[in-house]
Amino acid sequence: WKNSPPNAAILARLARGYGDRPFTVYQDERVSYEANYRATCHLATWMQAHGVAKGDRVALAMRNLPEWPTIFFAAVSIGAILVPLNAWWTGAELEFGMQDSGAKLLFVDGERHERLKQCYAALPDLERVVVSRACSPLEGEAVALESILGPCNSWAALADIAFPEVAIAPDDEVTLFYTSGTTGNPKGAVGTHRNLMTNILTSGYSVARAMLRRGEVPPPAPPYKVGLLVIPLFHVTACSAGLMALIAAGGTVVFMRRWDATEAMAIIEREKVNQTGGVPTIAWQLLEHPERANYDLSSLETISYGGAPSAPELVKRIYEEFGALPGNGWGMTETMATVTHHTGEDYLARPTSAGPPVPVAELKIMDVDGTRELPVGEVGELWAKGPMIVKGYWNKPEATAETFRDGWVRTGDLARLDDEGFLYVVDRAKDIIIRGGENIYSSEVEDVLYAHPAVTDAALIGVPHRSLGEEPVAVVHLAPGMTASEAELQQWVAARIAAFKVPVSIRFSRETLPRNANGKILKKELRGMFFGEAAA
Ligand code: ATP
Ligand code: MG
Repeated sequence: WKNSPPNAAILARLARGYGDRPFTVYQDERVSYEANYRATCHLATWMQAHGVAKGDRVALAMRNLPEWPTIFFAAVSIGAILVPLNAWWTGAELEFGMQDSGAKLLFVDGERHERLKQCYAALPDLERVVVSRACSPLEGEAVALESILGPCNSWAALADIAFPEVAIAPDDEVTLFYTSGTTGNPKGAVGTHRNLMTNILTSGYSVARAMLRRGEVPPPAPPYKVGLLVIPLFHVTACSAGLMALIAAGGTVVFMRRWDATEAMAIIEREKVNQTGGVPTIAWQLLEHPERANYDLSSLETISYGGAPSAPELVKRIYEEFGALPGNGWGMTETMATVTHHTGEDYLARPTSAGPPVPVAELKIMDVDGTRELPVGEVGELWAKGPMIVKGYWNKPEATAETFRDGWVRTGDLARLDDEGFLYVVDRAKDIIIRGGENIYSSEVEDVLYAHPAVTDAALIGVPHRSLGEEPVAVVHLAPGMTASEAELQQWVAARIAAFKVPVSIRFSRETLPRNANGKILKKELRGMFFGEAAA
């Protein structure tokens, strides 16, 4: 092994040992571990031959397709920085990602190629475009991925060539993931090989640690699992906690072109999927699906999620109705995914918690000025530290200096810790509602609304008020066929929490509430929709 171990491509190399075991499954395409290894070698060699060197940015704008991890491993094994672009972005937003990252090579699927191709000429750093599954004949400089590797189903027949050797240090950059843009414009977070490997390693240990606490002995090697990947890979959670952690354990990753609850149930039955999740909405849609009883979902063992606030009832319902263990974790793009996680009994006993920190992470709660650490139980800004925290933001020295302090990241989330170190996220600092000096945390009121049988979507928003500063207003979406009046929902909340937290009005949305690709409700957009652009 000349290639230094910190290189995240170690995964593709080690995983080769699983041979013919399925690595990815997508519709009728099956790629084995050996086939992925061979395709990775060929693609990395092709990139080197086409001038991609250490530190160069390679952009990837694609749905969840089986070539995604292969392109990922090929780029990072030669020291390039992989830039996953949000496949939901419009042409202009994709152009922003290309310009901001200065990518010289772009991998794109057919749909995004159509959206972006008229911009290629205006991107000064872009040298080459590789299109996978093109929708129309390729013109100009664009090359088909299939012309380099052949179709996925034939990768096992590629010649066994040497893996490219590039010296890579633990703190060399590996990825540039963009934040979701929930509170402002998306920022590129620069992750290192150390950050990524930390996340992959800790994911197994959070479960093992919970077993040790209960006096059980964790198995020496993780058993074989089939995971259904339903959240988009351009979010770091899907990439590191979903895809990479499963591959590291020799599992099989089943891909879906786009999320659809009915199709997901058919796949779970057919492929005997053991784990899925990603964001809370996915679990809700499976639970509430009218045809759920028609499918055999008994292979499901865990449904884990994070990335957005989740209603506490979800925990019990997953356990009781699926016989699966619910899991919740907290993290952000700046932490390369997971910082806290829990599942099973820990989570059932604390359904409003996102779990304790993974073994190598530290958390503290600071006052809003960031000058004083607050005692256990008090709500303040969450700060996180550990080898998963990214180096900083791409080309944003001021935002980097503001957010990253002495190894800690200021998260912008309001939270508390309990005396066992479990984390409870209560709101985003930017969303907290201050009504005449009293703090109202969205999650507390939303949780009460979710507990009402008719409510399937709820968001609490602060709207300006002349003397009180702000007032809480809720926007809800009701389950099909269910009714509930404004007064009834207000009484429901008033019976459960303090009067000043009761929404002064409740707006009903006929549609489910707008969410981003990561399952987060877009409060910025809701404020605009219901209260005019000024409030947004
Ligand atoms: P931007 O930073 O661009 O405004 P974003 O913060 O939504 O967007 P991400 O990095 O995708 O971008 O999301 C991280 C945020 O997601 C956290 O700061 C937190 O608010 C929320 N979050 C993550 N996990 C959980 C969880 N388990 N429970 C509640 N909220 C969570
Ligand atoms: Mg953020």
